[in-house]
Amino acid sequence: METVDAVVIGAGFAGLRALYRLRGMGKKVRVLEASEGVGGVWYHNGYPGARCDVESYDYSYSFSPELEQDWRWSERYATQPEILRYINHVADRFDLRKDIHFSTFMEEASYDEKAARWTIKSRDGRVWSAQYFVMCVGQLSTTKAPNYPGQSDFQGEIIHSGVWPKHKVDFAGKRVAIIGTGSSGMQMTPIIAKEAKHLTVFQRTANFSIPASNAPVSDEEDRQVKATYRQRREQAWNSPTGLGFKPNKQSALDVSPEEREKVYEAAWNRLGYGFALTYFDILLSKPANDTAAEFIRKKIGAVINDPVVREKLVPKGHAFAARRPSVDSGYFQAFNRDNVELADVRECPIVAFTPEGIRTTAKSHEFDIIIFATGFDAFTGSLLKPNIVGRSGRTLREKWSAGPVTQLGVSVSDFPNMLIVVGPGSPSLLSNVMVSTEEQIDWLAELIRNMDAQHIVEFEAEPEAEVRWVAHVNERAKETLYMTADSYYNGAEVAGKPKVFMPYSGGVRGYRRILHKCAEEGYTGFALRTQPAALGGVPVKLQTVLS
Ligand code: NAP
Repeated sequence: METVDAVVIGAGFAGLRALYRLRGMGKKVRVLEASEGVGGVWYHNGYPGARCDVESYDYSYSFSPELEQDWRWSERYATQPEILRYINHVADRFDLRKDIHFSTFMEEASYDEKAARWTIKSRDGRVWSAQYFVMCVGQLSTTKAPNYPGQSDFQGEIIHSGVWPKHKVDFAGKRVAIIGTGSSGMQMTPIIAKEAKHLTVFQRTANFSIPASNAPVSDEEDRQVKATYRQRREQAWNSPTGLGFKPNKQSALDVSPEEREKVYEAAWNRLGYGFALTYFDILLSKPANDTAAEFIRKKIGAVINDPVVREKLVPKGHAFAARRPSVDSGYFQAFNRDNVELADVRECPIVAFTPEGIRTTAKSHEFDIIIFATGFDAFTGSLLKPNIVGRSGRTLREKWSAGPVTQLGVSVSDFPNMLIVVGPGSPSLLSNVMVSTEEQIDWLAELIRNMDAQHIVEFEAEPEAEVRWVAHVNERAKETLYMTADSYYNGAEVAGKPKVFMPYSGGVRGYRRILHKCAEEGYTGFALRTQPAALGGVPVKLQTVLS
């Protein structure tokens, strides 16, 4: 058994940032990473067309001005290979690999109440003892796939977008199926359409999407961003979503239809995902949302030639951005190609897989490759996969059986000294997750620094604080349109998952203020003890020293 100060689970953007920050405080840290490389989702999601839908300059670390200045992004929205190069560069530049155990799946973690330490075990039998147990496991890292009758009989290749093989998948001359039309399915469709002999896209729900308007970054743009990078970051930190542009404070209903059309048109050609912020109430008011949704429907419809296909591809039945919209590069246009077919699985459900392909209620399709772009068990999937055992043998799975419960999204009562980064109860996937990741890790590091300074050995969310926070998360969600649609925001993506709203919709800036207020007031909602509770330790008042 190795004894360290902190074990961090996951070597994606969050895990590396946590390692860098905690190591900088003099902590002995180990990162356990199940795969063979750094990058988390960006390591695994190597499907054709995978790219980020947050602008490269905003989807990058802010902790090192030198790194900011040295790294040269080539495109407005970086591709997966470029993001992977970036994170590998970060790992090398800051010498992070020496503290990462790759190919190490954390199977179990249990809290020793008397020692106030976690015992963490990997699948291959190695053991670590750590005061802090930091979960940086990602929100979209546990894939989910359908299980159709006959699936194992299919003689071609089945691939999930979220665990894309490391070898090159050759689509030339192949008959390909994509099941799923979320961001992953939409990004890969136009690329595979150009290579494959024939492509069938199986759609269950037509999704909203905004054009990426991707472009190479010119030297002049690069120079401009880098000259004012601090301001750009400040703006992102103080924005509702962590994106680097100013949201509009106007209501969509306070302007004339002509004015709105002009604003939407400009946003359509420039903002990508930020289109949802064109007016502040797009996600708050159905009538405001309808104006945006109608504009998008018209735009999507205009680029699809076949009226039957158009009718199926134009999204209906849910408010724009109530489910995560996509940002695409030619998705809808791909259906104008002769080799691309749309299969509507609501109208003609998949009955079974056959050795040759897929049989729906309408017909039998023959395929060489079937791709599941069917998404993830979001937010909680990877947190609940290992067996995490807190006080009195209580598991996290038991504690969260009716949905995730946290204090401020970072901590769970009965699981002292465990920290969760960008998990449920925090802005997470409703924000530029890079901003949220850095914000939370810096806050958690400050908590640890204050604990050290005042000899605190155990911190734990107070149960009443958790109840208050979950209620607050729900209240904020009720102000929005998010609960009006089934989505992975509210657990509807997995059958049997508790239907509760998981991320915090109060915005990056609002959340940041709450975190800071909590710290300034001595970490309200947390019990901080100089002796473990199991040895009679009682909460003490912390005099926060802010750095
Ligand atoms: P997703 O958004 O959850 O989409 C999954 C798709 O699979 C949906 O269209 C879903 O249909 C469909 N599906 C699931 N089970 C099915 C079944 N049994 N039969 C037919 N269809 C089925 O997953 P994703 O596309 O992988 O994207 C997940 C998230 O990852 C995105 O929202 C985004 O946050 C992130 N992401 C980001 C980027 C980027 O930065 N550009 C790229 C990719 C992914 P229903 O809608 O009917 O459930």
